Amino acid sequence: MSVFQNYIGGKWVSSGAQIRNINPSDTDDIVGEYARADKDQAEEAIAAAAAARESWRRSNIQQRFDCLDAIGTEILARKEELGRLLAREEGKTLPEATGEAARAGQIFKFFAGEALRIQGEFQSSVRPGVEIEISREAVGVVGIITPWNFPIAIPAWKIAPALAYGNTVVFKPAELVPGSAWALGDIISRSGLPDGVFNLVVGAGREVGQVLLDDPRVNAVSFTGSVGTGGAVAAACSARGAKFQLEMGGKNPLIVLADADMDNAVACALNGAYFSTGQRCTASSRLIIETSAHDQFVDALKTKVEGLVVGNALDEGTQIGPVVDQRQLDQNIRYLDIGKSEGADLVCGGDLIERETPGFYMTPALFTDTKNDMRINREEIFGPVATTIRAADFDEAVAIANETPFGLSAGLCTTSLKAATQFKRESRAGMVMVNLPTAGVDYHVPFGGAKGSSFGSREQGRYAAEFYTTVKTAYLSS
Ligand code: ADP
Repeated sequence: MSVFQNYIGGKWVSSGAQIRNINPSDTDDIVGEYARADKDQAEEAIAAAAAARESWRRSNIQQRFDCLDAIGTEILARKEELGRLLAREEGKTLPEATGEAARAGQIFKFFAGEALRIQGEFQSSVRPGVEIEISREAVGVVGIITPWNFPIAIPAWKIAPALAYGNTVVFKPAELVPGSAWALGDIISRSGLPDGVFNLVVGAGREVGQVLLDDPRVNAVSFTGSVGTGGAVAAACSARGAKFQLEMGGKNPLIVLADADMDNAVACALNGAYFSTGQRCTASSRLIIETSAHDQFVDALKTKVEGLVVGNALDEGTQIGPVVDQRQLDQNIRYLDIGKSEGADLVCGGDLIERETPGFYMTPALFTDTKNDMRINREEIFGPVATTIRAADFDEAVAIANETPFGLSAGLCTTSLKAATQFKRESRAGMVMVNLPTAGVDYHVPFGGAKGSSFGSREQGRYAAEFYTTVKTAYLSS
């Protein structure tokens, strides 16, 4: 089997060790072997990005547009194939994976346009004869560290703005899903970017990732991943004065009021809690139900959850793919045990099941009658596990929704305009959804959370400029 290499300074390079990419729907299926970059290669990638920094910072915006547009065009043309690769290595269903690949293409197209729209300001001075110009400039070398759950969309929404605003990139994807990252790197390598502007190093977080955090030539780090690693990114970057941006976990509430359209509320909960095997930081993991509608809602949701088809991600008809790996499966099981020991009522799911091929299959689980202070409602499980919490009325529901260390996304199902309006104001989440699942966002508007979910400026849309540029104020006396 050939080994997929790393891309450093415009060249594909091999290394002594490899990472084996395993299909979670069929652990006998090896998706590929990927060269495992080490500390030295991470440093070479940083050196290449640093060497390309000044020329790319000054690059023509038409050149940036052309490269990003070409990347977007190729991703969109190959979305079925890229989606298949993504479903095979990560385990989300084919439609979900193809949709994610298409999203990556759209993001590159969006930021191709943004490269043409980088704006400044002109202001009068308080001093006579002086003019002030405020402009945005590239930050420099950006380290991009991404998780396994969106193997192409998250890299796209960091790499595209980084390049559009004139930064050079060292990209370290999650070692669990290097296939989509490599395919993206391959497409980027053929887009016409000068050597060193984009570099790909597949490797371990503690080794390659840590080099990106510590190396003074890396001017900024954009990270999405766990709360624990996010803390390490923050500590390392602030210690040396590097810019950083963190997207971490969620424990997202979906409130259902008694006046809601119940079919839609159940559909929102089903999608938000279980699709993509619950492995989304925006997943609806806490379903907060107005007491008078609780039992009716649970009956309807339970029927739908039990009807979900769990299976091989590549099979047509599969609605819930496998859990990504054994470690995540063990974590899910651990939380099911914690929930039971805390006194929560497991009304369905949580079973390990077998399919034709060996994989990490579990049935989606629903706990009812939980309390918001239970660990299963405080800590991110990151699996197909949701809970219900009863709330006497809207005010209590909002208080419970906000009572969490996280604040990424929050949802409300209601037909009351008053409740919807109040919720948009009072939710302590970065993203608020009314009559929609907590997961599922647009690509041209900001993405990010409050409290422990995020740190730094927002990702996506034109707000991404905040992170990937630095502001210069120039005074000129004539
Ligand atoms: P997850 O639970 O999603 O695997 P992690 O935070 O462990 O979350 O991983 C997210 C990304 O952070 C991955 O690319 C991983 O390799 C990387 N990573 C893990 N540890 C470190 C570290 N000490 N320094 C930098 N990156 C790291």
